[in-house]
Amino acid sequence: MAGFSDSPLVQDIAVPGVCLLIAFLSYVSQLIFHHATTLEPGAPSQTETVVFNLLLACLWITYYRTVTTDPGRYVFQDKVMEVDTTKRWCKKCAAPKPPRAHHCRHCERCVPRMDHHCPWTANCVSMVTFPHFLRFLVFANLSLWNLGYFLWQRFACLWDDRNMPAYLGPTLFSLIALAVISLVWFVTSVALGIMLANTLKSWALNQTMIEGWEIDRHEVVAERGGRDWWDVVGADGEKMRFEKIEFPYDIGIYANMSQAMGTSNPLLWLNPFASTLKISEDGKGAGWDWEENGFNREEGMWPPLDPEKVRRAARNWPAGRRDFAAELRAVDNEENTEDRKEAFKRRQEEDFQRKQRIIADLEEVGQFDDLEEDEDGESDEDTSDGGEEDDEKSPTLGISLPWVNSDGDRLHDYGVDEDAEDGIDDDVPLAELLRRRKGTRYVDDDDA
Ligand SMILES: [Zn+2]
Ligand SMILES: [Zn+2]
Repeated sequence: MAGFSDSPLVQDIAVPGVCLLIAFLSYVSQLIFHHATTLEPGAPSQTETVVFNLLLACLWITYYRTVTTDPGRYVFQDKVMEVDTTKRWCKKCAAPKPPRAHHCRHCERCVPRMDHHCPWTANCVSMVTFPHFLRFLVFANLSLWNLGYFLWQRFACLWDDRNMPAYLGPTLFSLIALAVISLVWFVTSVALGIMLANTLKSWALNQTMIEGWEIDRHEVVAERGGRDWWDVVGADGEKMRFEKIEFPYDIGIYANMSQAMGTSNPLLWLNPFASTLKISEDGKGAGWDWEENGFNREEGMWPPLDPEKVRRAARNWPAGRRDFAAELRAVDNEENTEDRKEAFKRRQEEDFQRKQRIIADLEEVGQFDDLEEDEDGESDEDTSDGGEEDDEKSPTLGISLPWVNSDGDRLHDYGVDEDAEDGIDDDVPLAELLRRRKGTRYVDDDDA
């Protein structure tokens, strides 16, 4: 999967390719069934034809909506933001990152309840697009099962007539056509069946692909630590606590399913014309707040702290500790918006330079292996089991050594911009700066 959706070829041909595949399986097969009269039992009945084409119509509608629906965008109304460092912050959007949102590097923004960026629809599966995506998968599978029934009928007739003289049987052309359609049908059915099963599971558990990955990582960390909680020292010497927490958004199967589809009426869940969910525009409610199951000692604890990241940040930052006081003085001296923007860009640039220096340092002295050591000197090989080639030293990743799950996936593979993920190593200076400037004026691009 790694980098699959990054390939320019895949990006260009995925959607037309899916359309061609649907057209081939649905219409070429019908042409053959209706016109290759030597293929028993002949053309499908009128009812069979109507049912199959109705399913196909639903499939086209839901696919179109999955591809074209905007995955959602956060609009921040407040010009003055209460900066809260206990909350997540996206440095790419330069804005708070609401719970369950992630910054998608394809959509180039924080996507509400991001599941993954799907190469086959060239779109994010998000809070907004998930219902369309699920309906598309359901109708795709129903259509495939219907086609499978047609194919099975024809193979059954061939088997029944196996003792008949060949000249009475189907032509060579129709046999080849039947074989090709069956082969394409089989591969497509297996792939889409797996996708549907995974999506149904994540729907029922209210767990996005990204959250499934976070859960795996959290379990590995907790298991390795062998305790339910322990303290970690952060980059600025402050203590942070790792504690084992429960995934909070699973509020019961029916409630999970209703929440995802935006209605508790199951009759509407498969409606191809259902209206698209909307992100609330007043900064709370739909897309901003998520009901929790109350298993943790307080709300808002997800995603769990990654002690590896904190430890890495603590080791790396002394090399490039910022002078916050000086920066804050500079902020005070910035008279107008333009100055502030300019200064913000400069700080970003400085951040980047510092990061480059750290990477260079690490590469020079070959400290990557050292960074992979636990506090107690134990190597954490087990976390990279199943990892593929580029999981540790990829130069584009900078100082982070991304964790890979048992499928060999890292967040990057779901379309997440790892650089904008809650990298404590990245966020500490900015968060710290902002904490000291609590209530700092935030000017978004629309004001410029
Ligand atoms: Zn973002
Ligand atoms: Zn995306």
